[in-house]
Amino acid sequence: MYRIGIDLGGTFVKAGLVDENGKIIIKSKIPTLVKRDHAEVIDDMSAQAKKLCLDAGVDFAEVVSVGIGCPGAITGSTGEVSYSCNLDWRNVPLGGMLSERLGKPVKVSNDANVAALGEALYGAGKNYSDIIMLTLGTGVGGGIVIGKKLYEGNESKGAELGHMVICSGGERCACGRCGCFEAYCSASALIRDTKRAMEKDGSSLMWEIAGGSIDGVNGETAFIAEKRGDKSAAEVIERYVFYLAEGIMNFCNIFRPQAIVLGGGVSEQGANLTDRVTELCRKGYYGYKGTPEVEILTATLKNDAGLIGAAFL
Ligand SMILES: [Zn+2]
Repeated sequence: MYRIGIDLGGTFVKAGLVDENGKIIIKSKIPTLVKRDHAEVIDDMSAQAKKLCLDAGVDFAEVVSVGIGCPGAITGSTGEVSYSCNLDWRNVPLGGMLSERLGKPVKVSNDANVAALGEALYGAGKNYSDIIMLTLGTGVGGGIVIGKKLYEGNESKGAELGHMVICSGGERCACGRCGCFEAYCSASALIRDTKRAMEKDGSSLMWEIAGGSIDGVNGETAFIAEKRGDKSAAEVIERYVFYLAEGIMNFCNIFRPQAIVLGGGVSEQGANLTDRVTELCRKGYYGYKGTPEVEILTATLKNDAGLIGAAFL
C-alpha cells in the first residue's frame, strides 16, 4: 500500500511516492509554470503522479490516496483552493480535478499544516502525540497536531499561528494588522531588523559579512556576526529570540503540547536557537514549575516534511 504526497509551490511541484512507514520511495520535481491555466498544471500533476509509480515499478492500483500541500487558503471539505497568492488561483477545485484524473481520493491542505503533520508523524515530533510546528521562513507558518491528527479549524481556515499579535500596535504585517508574530519572527523580519541595526552602526561586523552592501543581508548575517562578538548583531538576535519565546509561550499556555518543532530557514541555527528559546520559556510559562516541560526541537525532515505530511492527509 502506497500514498502519493504532492507539494504544490509557486515555482515547483514536488511529488513523492510514500510507503506505509513514511519512507519516500521515489520523488520528482517539475516546474509549476503558474502563468498558464490551472487545468494544465493539474494535468501535469496527474502525469507526474503516475510516472512516479512507473519509475518505481509500483502498480498505480497500489496507491490508496493522494494528498496535496498548497500555499494559501484551502477549503478542507472540498479540496478547493479558495485563494492562493503564490499560484494566483481563486476558487480552483484542485482536489476534485486531480481526483477525477487519477481515480483516487485526493485531500488538500495548507502547506504549513502539511509540513507539521509530516514532522509529527515521522520527523522531530514522532515520539509525541501533540506538537505545534512553526515554520520560520518568508512568513511564519504554523500547524497544530493533536493526538497525531491535524487541527485545522473550520474548513481548514485556522492554525494561522503567524498572525497572532504579540506586540499590539507594533510592526505592520502583510495580513493588515500590526504586531503579528510573523512581523517579528519570520526570516523577513529578521532581515529587516538586521538592516536597521546596520544602518545605525556603520562599524558593525555585519557590513563585512554582508559583503559591504545592505542588499547582501540574509537570515544568517546577524547570527554569524554575533558569534564573532558584534554587539549590534547580538542585540538583533536577542530581540528575535525574545519575540520567538513570547509567541511560543502563548502557544504553550494555550495548548500545552509535548513539543514545539521549529522549521524553515531560521531553524537551521539548531541548538543555538532552541536552547535560548527554551531558557526564556522556562522562566515565562504559566505555572511552569507545576507543568510538564515542553521540548523545543528543530525539524528533521526539511523539505520532505511537506511530501510525507501530504501523503498522510
Ligand atoms: Zn499578520
